[in-house]
Amino acid sequence: MSNSEACQAVSAAPPTATIIDGKHIAAELRSGIADVVRSIQHEHSVTPGLAVVLMGDDPASQVYVRNKGQQAHEAGMNSFIHRLPSETSQVALLTLIGMLNADPVVNGILVQLPLPAHIDEKAVLHLIAPEKDVDGFHPSNVGALAMGEDCLVPCTPLGCVMLLKRQLGDLSGLKAIVIGRSNIVGKPVAQLLLREDCTVTISHSRTRDLAHECRQADILIAAAGRPRMVQGSWIKPGATVIDVGINRVAVADGKTRLVGDVDFDSASRVAGAITPVPGGVGPMTIACLLQNTLSATRRQHGLTAS
Ligand code: NAD
Repeated sequence: MSNSEACQAVSAAPPTATIIDGKHIAAELRSGIADVVRSIQHEHSVTPGLAVVLMGDDPASQVYVRNKGQQAHEAGMNSFIHRLPSETSQVALLTLIGMLNADPVVNGILVQLPLPAHIDEKAVLHLIAPEKDVDGFHPSNVGALAMGEDCLVPCTPLGCVMLLKRQLGDLSGLKAIVIGRSNIVGKPVAQLLLREDCTVTISHSRTRDLAHECRQADILIAAAGRPRMVQGSWIKPGATVIDVGINRVAVADGKTRLVGDVDFDSASRVAGAITPVPGGVGPMTIACLLQNTLSATRRQHGLTAS
């Protein structure tokens, strides 16, 4: 066999890793949530309510918000979607948040990001009542997470750790690397892994020899927003890989497709288990939003988890 034939044979080899089916796991989670929603409606006459605020007409945000509303509905929750024109003033947006904070039928509030440039994102996120902050971005929830206290946790990181626990069971003592240190994904997922007793490395754009750091890890979480950056050669054989990245890249004929931050073809022949993109972490994010809305509702009504 020539060298080039050997290369082709390797690249055509099927994945050996278990593919973690986030779509299926998220559907199971939503179905369990719907059961609990029915039971608290029956026993306590309480229906969880999720308010989503969308400002402007960003096409991706429109799709996310529509899906959030639809899935909340399907889980038996009330969904209140507030669509505001992009020129809405900061004062008007803050007034709306204040009204949602005070509204007893609203148990969870989510403001879809990004917001238009004239809005102070921090001021908006800080005004959301921490007990209704189902995105887990309020400093009270961020602080509580850092201190290992019970709190509302950002949805995507929560989904990542659910997938890991489902795949690996106990995570205690495992070495984990998180690629990315954003407030939305990297930092909170690292905090959650610490809570699971992992030994955690947080890496970022200034990390030296990222490939070497990755090769030490039993768990690799990629959240850098860099298409197919993580190569199979960076992965410890048998490691579990969670790919958070969502990147749209050009393919032939002027078409585009979604890829993750991990080069799936090479990584899936080294890892023990891996999430695909799409169909891995993405579906877990909305399921975890519903989970947070349910948790927030229970806390607000003094209902214990069943
Ligand atoms: P971000 O841009 O806020 O942060 C990216 C982080 O990656 C930064 O901390 C940066 O230091 C690090 N980074 C960038 N280049 C790097 C490099 N070459 N090497 C190492 N680290 C590097 O992004 P984010 O909001 O955390 O999102 C990350 C990715 O996850 C994006 O692709 C985003 O679309 C995706 N995402 C997916 C979901 C989901 O539901 N699946 C949710 C949120 C974000």
